[in-house]
Amino acid sequence: MDAHLSTPISSIKGIGAHFGARLEKLNIVTLKDLIYYLPFRYQDFSQIMPIAHIADEGTATVYGEVQTIRMYRTPRRHLYIIEATIADDTGTMKAVWFNQKFIITTLKQGTWVNLAGKVAREGKRFVLQSPEYEIISRTADPHSGKHTGRLVPIYPETKGVTSRLVRFALSKVIPELQTLPEFLPDDLLHKHHLPAIGEALYRIHFPRTLEEAEHAQNRIAFQDLFLLQLINASEQHALSSSPAHAFSYNADAIKKEFKTLPFELTLAQKKALYDVLEDLKKPHATNRLLQGDVGSGKTIVAALAALIVARAKKQAVFMAPTEVLATQHYVTFTKFFPHFDMGVALLTASRSALFLGEGLQTEMKKKDVVAHIAAGRVRIIIGTHAVLQKSVVFDDAAFIVIDEQHRFGVRQRAALTARTNVASLSPHFLSMSATPIPRTLALTVFGDLELSLVNQMPKDRKSIITKIISPAGRDGAYQFIREQISQGRQAYVVCPRIDPVDTRTNADTTQTDADRRIKKPKKQSLFLMEARAVKEEYEKLSRKIFPDLRVAMLHGQMPADEKARTMRAFKDGKTDVLVATSVIEVGVDVPNATIMMIEGSEHFGLSQLYQFRGRVGRGEHQSYCFLFTDINSKTTRDRLKALVTAKNGFELAEIDLRLRGPGQFLGNEQTGMPDIAAKAAQHPDFVTATRQAAQELIATDPTLSQHPYLAAYLKFFKQSVHLE
Ligand code: ADP
Ligand code: MG
Repeated sequence: MDAHLSTPISSIKGIGAHFGARLEKLNIVTLKDLIYYLPFRYQDFSQIMPIAHIADEGTATVYGEVQTIRMYRTPRRHLYIIEATIADDTGTMKAVWFNQKFIITTLKQGTWVNLAGKVAREGKRFVLQSPEYEIISRTADPHSGKHTGRLVPIYPETKGVTSRLVRFALSKVIPELQTLPEFLPDDLLHKHHLPAIGEALYRIHFPRTLEEAEHAQNRIAFQDLFLLQLINASEQHALSSSPAHAFSYNADAIKKEFKTLPFELTLAQKKALYDVLEDLKKPHATNRLLQGDVGSGKTIVAALAALIVARAKKQAVFMAPTEVLATQHYVTFTKFFPHFDMGVALLTASRSALFLGEGLQTEMKKKDVVAHIAAGRVRIIIGTHAVLQKSVVFDDAAFIVIDEQHRFGVRQRAALTARTNVASLSPHFLSMSATPIPRTLALTVFGDLELSLVNQMPKDRKSIITKIISPAGRDGAYQFIREQISQGRQAYVVCPRIDPVDTRTNADTTQTDADRRIKKPKKQSLFLMEARAVKEEYEKLSRKIFPDLRVAMLHGQMPADEKARTMRAFKDGKTDVLVATSVIEVGVDVPNATIMMIEGSEHFGLSQLYQFRGRVGRGEHQSYCFLFTDINSKTTRDRLKALVTAKNGFELAEIDLRLRGPGQFLGNEQTGMPDIAAKAAQHPDFVTATRQAAQELIATDPTLSQHPYLAAYLKFFKQSVHLE
């Protein structure tokens, strides 16, 4: 089967090198690419109407003979107009096309043809406007067409390569389609009433009814989710068969450790800590995702676990996505565990330091810190991943904590494992994320991880007053901010990118056909745009609105050390207002900042807004979140209002998933994933079913050696979602 699906389409009879080369522009190279090139909608041209019955505008398909056809040019705009009359037994009607000169040579007088498309009224008569055409001989069934006379699939297109060509190519492989061998277990298909693969693909490309097409699409969704869960299950299987250091811990010792903290752990924190410690106890590698709102106190959970690791004379590594966060974690350790004297190192691009107990804290050359780490004289290592990737060799890293894990790719995990310097033992992994991900998605995208939730906030947290501010309320809000600052507080201003891509992800727009076209993201320019938005806002605030206050800006294009300096100044209270982009500095902790002001808030997802808001309300003072929007539509306001009413981030995440799709929950590295995540969102029942089935299968046949077909498909699948 393998070889068969890999057949280049250019070698298929009827397609050949010429069409093969054109289809390659859609990344269709092999038979597999072609038959899995799925339509995103159908155009119903299945009803063939007698011409005399056409009595209204709309769409219609007619079958008849070309009586006349002529071409002329409009005098002013120099358009070519092709005008034909078509006749069937009941009457005649006109069809027109613009600038499609080749039609005049294709549709000769006397040709029998299906014409399908938009019908417009012209005086008392009706005219087909730029209809699809397809020559069907006088004796043939008019429903036998590829592009007309049926439910016509519409495929993603690109310049010069239309759905017509895809349909044409597919019509050449119908026998291959229909006879595709099944690779999913029969009982599974049976249980979920799903068609076999050959039938499914055939009916996706050549459906008789929409229901049939949908049913077939379900089978593909099921299959993708199952394949993904197979990857998850084998990942889990691999972990559970990689030996790791098993840490025994003493519950009383832990309790003593957290009794010294200046606060009581929440129940959610205790539960999560228990999960993590149970992981560490296992003699095989573990991998857990700790999810919890900003400010729910995930760091301390990981820190307490790291202490256990350190006390067992192994190393714990903390990776943070930014210098600011790394530094913050370092401070957490030195502040909360002043008596810890087994070495805490900080390594970022601009700073390297070592802590050996209260009063024994020093800045140190990077290479010296690295030497201490390699020699095992440091037990806890905190840094950004950029630094950790280079020269650092661990002595015996047994526990790796990855903060804001959605920023890191899957591959980084593997790279780290490879560099932990203990050939025989794998480290335990703990990832932390403040992006609440709906459970269905989490099980799909992070399905190889165990999940823990910190779904409770420390009890002294005040709720944040959230207000939606229309343009008319802007001055009042500025006034209020000024007031707060005069009382010693600080404010954040977050700006969206001003670029067309971002405005399109607005919740008021649902996914359109155009969204599904093949497009390449323009990363570089997004950064530029973002910086521009921040600069503009900074200019405005520092010159016009708050010329007497200390305003600073922070964006991704600034050099790392400048960013760190700016952030530190804000943290130290040397800046009043910080204007920043949305992408940087997640999870920053500045308790004195009480105002979060978000410009163009309609551009952000609810989860994202929720995260921004989480940066305030971290201290003793009442905090405020102002959502600025210039859009006065009810939809926008209603969506933003969810932020006022929702109980927690998970609730908002569910709303986001419904309104905006799964894209925003996934990091950049998860290429190929959004499409599958969308399927998961549509079929939550499939997620649980496929997950269970995959785990059962992997338990009995971990290498899929008894399922060679399935194994071969899995390989294809991994390539298509870029997991390999
Ligand atoms: P996040 O989950 O967003 O990473 P942090 O770990 O940064 O949150 O914690 C946010 C703040 O709350 C920190 O200043 C931390 O010291 C504090 N904190 C953590 N747990 C508690 C608790 N149980 N009670 C009070 N404050 C806490
Ligand atoms: Mg955090």
